[in-house]
Amino acid sequence: MQAMENRKAIVIGAGISGLTAAAKLRKIGFDVTVLECRERAGGVIGTFEENGFKAESGSNTVMVNSKKTLDFLCSEGLSEKIQQTAPAAKKRFFARYGKPRAVPMGPFSLLFTRLFTLSGKIRLLLEPFVKKFPPQADPSVAEFAARRLGQEGLDYAIDPFMAGVYGGDPSRLSVRHAFAPFWNLEQKYGSIIKGAIKSMKEKAASGNFFKPMMVSFDGGMKTLVDTLAKNLGSSLITNAKVISIDLTGTSWQVSWATDKEESFDDFDALVVAVPAPQVCQLPLPGTMAAQLSPLSGIVYAPVSTYTLGFKRKQVSHKLDGFGVLLPGKENMSILGSLFVSSLFKGRAPEGFVTLTNYVGGMRHPEYAQLPQQEMEKLVMADIKKLLGVRGEPAFRKLYYWEHAIPQYNLGYETFLETLDEAEAKFPNVAFVGSYRGGVGVSACIENAISAAVKLERGMQM
Ligand SMILES: Cc1cc2nc3c(=O)[nH]c(=O)nc-3n(C[C@H](O)[C@H](O)[C@H](O)COP(=O)(O)OP(=O)(O)OC[C@H]3O[C@@H](n4cnc5c(N)ncnc54)[C@H](O)[C@@H]3O)c2cc1C
Repeated sequence: MQAMENRKAIVIGAGISGLTAAAKLRKIGFDVTVLECRERAGGVIGTFEENGFKAESGSNTVMVNSKKTLDFLCSEGLSEKIQQTAPAAKKRFFARYGKPRAVPMGPFSLLFTRLFTLSGKIRLLLEPFVKKFPPQADPSVAEFAARRLGQEGLDYAIDPFMAGVYGGDPSRLSVRHAFAPFWNLEQKYGSIIKGAIKSMKEKAASGNFFKPMMVSFDGGMKTLVDTLAKNLGSSLITNAKVISIDLTGTSWQVSWATDKEESFDDFDALVVAVPAPQVCQLPLPGTMAAQLSPLSGIVYAPVSTYTLGFKRKQVSHKLDGFGVLLPGKENMSILGSLFVSSLFKGRAPEGFVTLTNYVGGMRHPEYAQLPQQEMEKLVMADIKKLLGVRGEPAFRKLYYWEHAIPQYNLGYETFLETLDEAEAKFPNVAFVGSYRGGVGVSACIENAISAAVKLERGMQM
């Protein structure tokens, strides 16, 4: 068996998934090369800063929900840079009747909230008595939520939540894939409410309880990806175009070009860490490309983030929470608005606030690509109504992502099977990214670590 330190791995794509896989492979002892086609690593994650305002290009936060993720961040030298969200972040708003309504966190607040009508509240409380879906069922999120929580529960709780996570359409998203924790609770305990309470008690009793934390980093989310990129040093090659990927026996031959030179090398392992549409465009060996061609069917929601800064006095809402998400029934244009400067220090200058507004998704894909002036009109109309915002912004930053969030729609298992089959058929290859195993940053980190470990184990056999 070849010594692990002599083994070479190539990672294509340097978003958080590729950067994490590369970091883990290096720790395991691989000599790693990372190819990124853009000028900078980080993929959709990045932070823009101007005159004391910060705007995230994609993710604003990471929900660290396992010790594995936290240990990884610390092992990369990020422990001193982690910023936890302010206590206000616990309060979340969904809109109803054109205004943000605090999401009830317990039976008492449920009693008084205007988010649901009286009959809607009673229906929510009946959830533990609703019969569970048969194990072989494959309902959409909308079907699942309407049956378990009632129509109002779907319209004013699940629909805005799905807009926030996926920019997604609950009638197309698969509950098994897009809402897995809730499906699992229902299947195991017969009810989401009962299951949530019981599983929390079980975890506490087992002593195996990690309290999830919502974090960002000093300097914003770019600190996460910049640190991982810096740790990779010269192993990370940006502005790289992959020219060919061939397979001889168990060895991957990859050639690539930068504006300075063309390079070629043999690798023992290949990690593909680009989004699904780009997987299909890579110059992979013919049989592999043919096998992976169904991945072009994965739907991505386009999303724009439009971050605006205002003087505090221009906004009448207290901004005492995480942000507000919009149910489709409210007929507004944006998907939600995040109260960024209420979450973390240093996101706006003294006396100012920053709001990041999400536009597009599967609800209004056509809005995601609007030119900035039209985008501003649309966003301002909504946040004026919702948050009482007046006057001209002091700061503006717009980002557009054509392939922002993969949609874990009904039938998604066929894509996952395709990936499993390709990994089983071709030697020492792993596919990582937000289109597999979870769209959140935390899931991308966990899955990339697992993929690196699996590659190593596979090569030891
Ligand atoms: C607007 C928005 C807001 C979000 N908000 C949150 C949030 O608050 N919390 C959260 O947990 N998650 C959030 N997410 C989701 C999360 O940020 C992403 O799912 C995650 O960052 C995706 O990482 P990735 O590495 O899988 O893909 P990407 O970030 O897309 O990275 C893929 C990389 O591959 C590179 N690449 C593509 N083709 C090639 C090629 N041929 N050769 C070489 N390189 C290539 C790309 O340039 C890119 O750098 C958000 C996403 C978006 C878009």
